[in-house]
Amino acid sequence: MTIDLTAFAKEKGVKYFMISFTDLFGGQRAKLVPTQAIADMQEEGAGFAGFATWLDFTPAHPDMLAVPDPNSAIQLPWKPEVAWVAGNCVMEGEDVAQAPRNVLRRLIDEAAAEGMHVKTGIEAEFFLLSPDGSQISDEYDTASKPCYDQQAVMRRYDVIKEICDYMLELGWGPYQNDHEDANGQFEMNWEFDDALATADKHSFFKFMTKSVAEKHGFRATFMPKPVEGLTGNGCHAHISVWDAPGSESKINVFATTPSTDSQTSELGLSENGRHFLGGIMKHASALAAITNPTVNSFKRINAPRTMSGATWAPNSVTWTGNNRTHMVRVPGPGRFELRLADGATNPYLLQAVIIAAGLSGVRSKADPGKRYDLDMYAQGHTVRGAPKLPLNMLDALRAYDKDKGLKEAMGKQFSDAYLKLKMEEWDSFVSHFSSWEKENTLDI
Ligand SMILES: [Mg+2]
Repeated sequence: MTIDLTAFAKEKGVKYFMISFTDLFGGQRAKLVPTQAIADMQEEGAGFAGFATWLDFTPAHPDMLAVPDPNSAIQLPWKPEVAWVAGNCVMEGEDVAQAPRNVLRRLIDEAAAEGMHVKTGIEAEFFLLSPDGSQISDEYDTASKPCYDQQAVMRRYDVIKEICDYMLELGWGPYQNDHEDANGQFEMNWEFDDALATADKHSFFKFMTKSVAEKHGFRATFMPKPVEGLTGNGCHAHISVWDAPGSESKINVFATTPSTDSQTSELGLSENGRHFLGGIMKHASALAAITNPTVNSFKRINAPRTMSGATWAPNSVTWTGNNRTHMVRVPGPGRFELRLADGATNPYLLQAVIIAAGLSGVRSKADPGKRYDLDMYAQGHTVRGAPKLPLNMLDALRAYDKDKGLKEAMGKQFSDAYLKLKMEEWDSFVSHFSSWEKENTLDI
């Protein structure tokens, strides 16, 4: 049954709705709509000037409408008179094909038509910095091996507890919080869910974490590598595929069944699970254009050893069992962890590209290739034949542009718009003048 947002507001005392959509860069844009006007907006959507949506429209395009998906409505726990609701982008009565949430919805439907329902959990790491972003917020957080630091996590207890309490209130099933491997870095985990629900939660988590941090006088950042020499912000995704969506799901189709898969299973992945993984491996270089979408992303992957001794980020396209030095880890039967994405990834495009690559793998019965059971940080140089991940954003965009299968699966309109805006971003980066150039070239 469709939730009536006017009734939702009345029941919960909501005065304003924030109708939000995510642009091609992963930024969230919104209109604040008073409850008195929400009934019309629920029908028609909130209007935005096309060009300013960063969905690759010109100033001549008509209004873009974000039509709220009432199932996604969340009352802000830190400001209960406001509710956030994800919007689906529509122009002149048609879904905007390149809008990230629409790309994901289309791929979810395609997978469902083949009996596959992708569920994911994500680990959105973040740093707490000073308000101007120039330094770590906690001056005592200086240990060279700060992962799981008990003292340091307690010095930020007020922020972590507030966010975790809100997730408990929202019913997300949060189950652990820790200080991560970089000074000033934290991770909070909640239960996995259907891909669209996880994408909405991922978006809201970023909004909530930034908002709560600001309230406490800090700045939360998901930037892939905000501090040189320290471990970066990953956004690992744990992926499984089920027989049905939501609470109807009973069977994990990634998990082996002894009768059918005993001859082929590897580490508890079914035949379909292996092919899905095969699709991820096959498209990995192109995938990086979405999972690692910024100039800064490539300071996290392919990085030199960090102060703690490990980057926790991959540099090659390899997979293995329960070993965190590879791009893909199969920690147990019936699921795998993609460790490629970083904190800048667009929450909707991350899920979309996982499904697009995985589906193509299942359809083509892709083979994930050889499994490497070794420490990639120490022995990576001994591995022959495993492709290296792109070294920079331009290489990743070129790899995406070359991967016709993935481009098509993500949608032509999306792929064209994305490549266009991201190439403009790359051009802006290379045309800026850096201090490194001057320091290294002045006296040549
Ligand atoms: Mg982590």
